[in-house]
Amino acid sequence: MRIDLHTHSSASDGTDTPGALVREAKAAGLDVVALTDHDATSGWAEAQQAADEVGITLVPGLEISTKLQHRGVHLLAYLPDPTHGPLTDVLDRIIAGRTERTPAIVAALQAHGIDVTEDDVRREAGGSVAAGRPHVADALVRRGVVADRAEAFATLLSPGQPGYANRYAPPLEEMIPIVVEAGGVPVIAHPWGRRGGTVLTEETFGMLAELGLAGIEVDHQDHPPELRARLRAIAADLDLLVTGSSDHHGLGKVDHDLGVNTTDPEQYERLVALAAPRP
Ligand code: AMP
Ligand code: FE
Ligand code: FE
Ligand code: ZN
Repeated sequence: MRIDLHTHSSASDGTDTPGALVREAKAAGLDVVALTDHDATSGWAEAQQAADEVGITLVPGLEISTKLQHRGVHLLAYLPDPTHGPLTDVLDRIIAGRTERTPAIVAALQAHGIDVTEDDVRREAGGSVAAGRPHVADALVRRGVVADRAEAFATLLSPGQPGYANRYAPPLEEMIPIVVEAGGVPVIAHPWGRRGGTVLTEETFGMLAELGLAGIEVDHQDHPPELRARLRAIAADLDLLVTGSSDHHGLGKVDHDLGVNTTDPEQYERLVALAAPRP
């Protein structure tokens, strides 16, 4: 059984529609795929319809942008009730923060002499409610300012660079209990990836486990083998689940093909058993 528990569609910053993503997952030989768009559940219905059509198990989820000690931490939430009030309140607030940030980024880029408009970004964001820096990057690519998303993040859109602007993110310590109350299963995404790093120590994972954290995404392209081994040991110590995924973004991220990392079936069964029964 091949299980990929972290992917993005055009409901956030992936380039495939939710339906196309699910069909690609089937074609890639996966048996289970989770759709985990940033801060949005709007792709679930289309993805579920496609999953029913092609015969693949869809795990509805999302990847919530949180903060811990002023650092961004991504929290995967599997199978939560998408109508749970406290959850929708936080997601609305994050989306509002994303929407307000776009003009700030565009103004900063313009002040830096770059010809890009809010309309450009809106066009790239298309059907996504979670407008983000990847869509700004796409606008810059179309304008010929940079070659690809990676160059945009490397030169313009990261903290300390000319086109960076902050946005609202809820505290991780508040978000984990909200996901649990919503009947969902919280798992820290790529904890030691590009920007994760130092705040997520073993002690921190212990504190998060007490708040209800269920697992750690260990097998991710941002983690070299040595870090995976250390994270696996921490998960074993704290009795946390270990997951693996592609973090696929369609054409938006190279080297993240569907199924490039997968989740052990036994870990997946444990994860599903932790979620509240769904109607
Ligand atoms: P945002 O959530 O709008 O602040 O944008 C962050 C998102 O941009 C991340 O979740 C990634 O999906 C994406 N991202 C970050 N760095 C890169 C990169 N170097 N290349 C492509 N996408 C990236
Ligand atoms: Fe992303
Ligand atoms: Fe992420
Ligand atoms: Zn992701």
